[in-house]
Amino acid sequence: MASLTADAVVIGAGPNGLVAACVLADAGWDVVVVEAADDVGGAVRSAEVVPGHVHDLFSSFYPLSAASPVLARLDLAAHGLTWRQAPAVMAHLVEPADAPAAVLHRDALDTAAGLEAEHPGDGDAWLRLVDHWNRIRDPLLDALFTPLPAPVPLARLLARMSPSETLWTARLATLPVHRLGQELFGGQGGRLLLAGNAAHSDVPTVGALSGVLGWLLAMLGQDVGFPVPEGGSGRLSAALASRAAAAGTRIVTGARAERVVVRGGRALGVVCADGTAVRARRAVLATCPAPTLYRQLLAPGDVPAGVVAALRHFEWDTPTVKANWSLREPVPWRAKAARTAGTVHVGVDMDGLAEWSTALAVGRPTGHTFALVGQPAVADPSRAPGGGESLWAYSHLPRGHDTTRDADALIDRMEALIEAHAPGFRELVVHRFVQRPGDLESADLSLVGGALNGGTAQLHQQLVFRPMPGTGRPETPVERLFLAGAGAHPGGGVHGAAGSQAARAALHGARLGGLPGRALSGLQRALARPSPWDPA
Ligand SMILES: Cc1cc2nc3c(=O)[nH]c(=O)nc-3n(C[C@H](O)[C@H](O)[C@H](O)COP(=O)(O)OP(=O)(O)OC[C@H]3O[C@@H](n4cnc5c(N)ncnc54)[C@H](O)[C@@H]3O)c2cc1C
Repeated sequence: MASLTADAVVIGAGPNGLVAACVLADAGWDVVVVEAADDVGGAVRSAEVVPGHVHDLFSSFYPLSAASPVLARLDLAAHGLTWRQAPAVMAHLVEPADAPAAVLHRDALDTAAGLEAEHPGDGDAWLRLVDHWNRIRDPLLDALFTPLPAPVPLARLLARMSPSETLWTARLATLPVHRLGQELFGGQGGRLLLAGNAAHSDVPTVGALSGVLGWLLAMLGQDVGFPVPEGGSGRLSAALASRAAAAGTRIVTGARAERVVVRGGRALGVVCADGTAVRARRAVLATCPAPTLYRQLLAPGDVPAGVVAALRHFEWDTPTVKANWSLREPVPWRAKAARTAGTVHVGVDMDGLAEWSTALAVGRPTGHTFALVGQPAVADPSRAPGGGESLWAYSHLPRGHDTTRDADALIDRMEALIEAHAPGFRELVVHRFVQRPGDLESADLSLVGGALNGGTAQLHQQLVFRPMPGTGRPETPVERLFLAGAGAHPGGGVHGAAGSQAARAALHGARLGGLPGRALSGLQRALARPSPWDPA
């Protein structure tokens, strides 16, 4: 049992926790990170499961990392990170299994040529979309990665567009991707590139916000690719941990935070399950999901009644099921273009995606299967020996229909889907392991019930509604306590923004004898109220 003291204690050594530690330590704070697992990385870890086969255990491709101004500032290349790119970014396969794939190439002209061949005019439509993205991407990414209300990047963003362009861009931000695709493209290809990317989130493709999510990921893919770290996703976490340690951070693994100690409405430190206590002179940053923080780590008496009431409206994203196969050869996709893509979307077309994603959102089993498939060795041959592959696929179950049996049936469907599109795939398997929702949660406590986003990405839990109606900022109603993980604004994905924003909020809050921090916590307390229609 250790007793430590630091300026700040960070709960969780996933990407957000490690980024938060870097930002605080760079500002001269003394930082301790406590991590429940035996190694760092959270949902950014890999392992050599079979000799020579390095499998990404959770996340796998990192457009958000490559584009993140937060990570760019950390110079992770100096800490051993090397990005690798597949020849093509992604492909979307639909029935029949030998139908041409929609392909996002590294070069926008190549993507456009493929779309144009399918439907005249779609190539130009793609290039116009890319032009618009190129004009606004820097201030847009800054606005996303700055705590709300982000007035400076927002002003820069508005300055890049005429009033009418601003209106159209705002409209795009509200559109369902199903509709956006119909407005932009005559053929299936362009529509699928947007909608397949939107389906990385749990927003139904007929729901508001799915348009902008699909657009953002597709444009990032066109811009920076879907890169993978050479040697496995764990190399990204190793680089982050090395960067944090170089700045002076102490990381304690195998230490599950059990309680955040609060006195007089102020967070004073963390006590871990093994008895390790870390006193925090200035701040506690929690990267766990909001319900975990408020319902488990804080004593009931330290949580304002308004937060308890607001949390009743909190919605998790859907349980994830992942299967992994070590292959002796690459996947023999019928659609040849898919052999060069790092990521493959497989299973359903636009209507199928609409039905699949809506069924998931309403909690109903569906006959459709949509799988995200990753073949990282296409970008990084070091992932598998002898030209093989360390393949994975994941999909989701509706909440409430996520038993072991449901998960195994979904794994069978994903496997059958890959076999249908790549006959002979099953014969190439030398090893298989699966991760059901419970397995994901036991490996990373933040993946509650297999939710990979810290809560739904739907509009009603984004921006000032994330994780509950409030300021959309990292401050909590408890002074000196900050939400720093994927459950906080701007949400999931490996970009480090939530961690960086929490660290900056802590630094800012500690100025002037802690006055700004007290004011912003007070504002969160004032906003944490039951809805007018909640029972009294
Ligand atoms: C299967 C899967 C695939 C994904 N694919 C991608 C992808 O390809 N690209 C992408 O950008 N994103 C992807 N994501 C999402 C991305 O990985 C997450 O959004 C991101 O890792 C969130 O970072 P985080 O630091 O907030 O949380 P995490 O990475 O989940 O880390 C949280 C850490 O906190 C620790 N922790 C939790 N509670 C406690 C506690 N009480 N005490 C101590 N430690 C604690 C956990 O053990 C964990 O190490 C994927 C996620 C999953 C699960």
